[in-house]
Amino acid sequence: MFSLNQFPLPFPAKGMEPYMSEQTINFHHGKHLDTYIKNLNELSQGTKYADLPLNEIIIKSAKDESAKKIFNNAAQVFNHNFFFNCLSKEKISMPEEIIISFGSADNFFEQFKSVAVSVFGSGWAWLIRDTNNELKIISTANADTPIAHNLKPIMTIDLWEHAYYLDYQNRRPDFIDAILKNLINWDFIKENLEK
Ligand code: MN
Repeated sequence: MFSLNQFPLPFPAKGMEPYMSEQTINFHHGKHLDTYIKNLNELSQGTKYADLPLNEIIIKSAKDESAKKIFNNAAQVFNHNFFFNCLSKEKISMPEEIIISFGSADNFFEQFKSVAVSVFGSGWAWLIRDTNNELKIISTANADTPIAHNLKPIMTIDLWEHAYYLDYQNRRPDFIDAILKNLINWDFIKENLEK
């Protein structure tokens, strides 16, 4: 059984204002993430997934046609926890490895934004490290997550409408800009690069 306490917000709910409102954070963490956790508990109860760590549930259920709902909810728990940890308002600088890989900080921002803007419907934009050790920007649809594809997640932005609709309505590009330029926790990103 999982609980919301295992996935605490790493900042106060007001901490991302004015780029992300307290109301958005409270719904996003306290309602959306909480619902994925409750659904996961209900769906996995009495199955072979019941007592596994979250990452194992995701990797195993990704290959199990009969466990699609378990996969979706488990992956959304992972994705949201990862996303909230990617956020900070501290002014920290982008790790050197990203600047070198993408040519410049601006190039990285431009490429990330272009992938994120073009996701159709709900999904996620990611910086990942692939099996050749290369950094790439990718998107996943709906609940899908890099760890189900043997890719190491480094950074993500949630592109489901619930992530931005209260603050930006349909202006997804403005939401992406606001996060990329003001709210990325580069210390967390750096830890992921070094793992
Ligand atoms: Mn979300």
